[in-house]
Amino acid sequence: MVQDTAKIKDVFRRRLSAWYRRHQRSLPWRKTSDPYRIWISEIMLQQTQVDTVIPYYHRFLKAFPDVYALAAAPLQDVLKAWENLGYYSRAGNIHAASHIIVNQWGGRIPDTPEAIKTLPGIGKYSAGAILSIAYGQVLPAVDGNVRRILCRVFAIRKPMDDPGEQKKLFDLAAALVPAKHPGDFNQALMDLGATICKAKVPDCSNCPIASICRAHLLDLQNILPITRKAPAIPHRQAAAAVIRNSEGLLLFVQRPASGLLASLWKLPGGFIDDMENMETGLQHRVKEELSIAIRVGNKLAIVHHAYTHFRATLQAYDCRLLKGAPEALGCQEWRWASPSDLKKLPLSKIDRMILAAIASC
Ligand code: SF4
Repeated sequence: MVQDTAKIKDVFRRRLSAWYRRHQRSLPWRKTSDPYRIWISEIMLQQTQVDTVIPYYHRFLKAFPDVYALAAAPLQDVLKAWENLGYYSRAGNIHAASHIIVNQWGGRIPDTPEAIKTLPGIGKYSAGAILSIAYGQVLPAVDGNVRRILCRVFAIRKPMDDPGEQKKLFDLAAALVPAKHPGDFNQALMDLGATICKAKVPDCSNCPIASICRAHLLDLQNILPITRKAPAIPHRQAAAAVIRNSEGLLLFVQRPASGLLASLWKLPGGFIDDMENMETGLQHRVKEELSIAIRVGNKLAIVHHAYTHFRATLQAYDCRLLKGAPEALGCQEWRWASPSDLKKLPLSKIDRMILAAIASC
């Protein structure tokens, strides 16, 4: 067992780098040195699995091959390219950042931590990942996967999600990043966390750093890392109104420009408070959104969806317009939409799910 911390760090770097050279995953954003493409990949990879991201990455770059094309595109086109990838604020941030990059940075992704972190959607992790991979800067990229590996290798028994511990783990990762090929080192850690040192059932027998991993040597790999107790995930009820006009077109609204699923389109309706009756609550939400009175009829469909911080159940009701003409009060826009319109509009996953459930009624 290698005891000395400096030696452990040295062996950690060398073995991980050698393993990465032989076993790295073949990923499309690793075949480019274009900072724009690396930036797009890193934002898409936030909270999202590699396999999910790959087809989106290709489609997005076909539609917006450089930062100028992205900046010139309407937000609705960017949201449409992002549809079903989730965490839609990322699409809005990328679009807003593209304007800043074009107008303030001459079309070049900024190359200092201070400057890149001023762009919407870029925090400490993304800044480290983009700058180390695209510009070879000696910076760590520390996310939950990297924290998990470090807690195991150094047998750290404090909660890894504790803010003070996060700072220590960041400093530890920073001390490990080598001066040569720092981007490869960060990507090697990403690959190790995704393929070997996984959250559940780490594959220690195939791990290149098993001989220096204190958790493995002490048989703590299934106990570490420790996390603070996660709070219970709240559950929210939502209702949607299915309102058709005489031509059979569906009434659709565009969500506000900020907040949950900003600027995406949906059926009228919204969240229903625990103390509210579902039908009355739906009438209120539609009134607040469109200034119309509706009659709520039969329930047509019900779907469930998990967001980052809560779970939702959405129920759709067959409704009729009783009084008033739609006005965009609590939404950006409204429209009567045909099935082909609905294919073109950017919608969130839960709204696509409820449409599919209604169509199968
Ligand atoms: S030896 Fe096991 S616990 Fe340690 S880093 Fe490798 S996979 Fe993770």
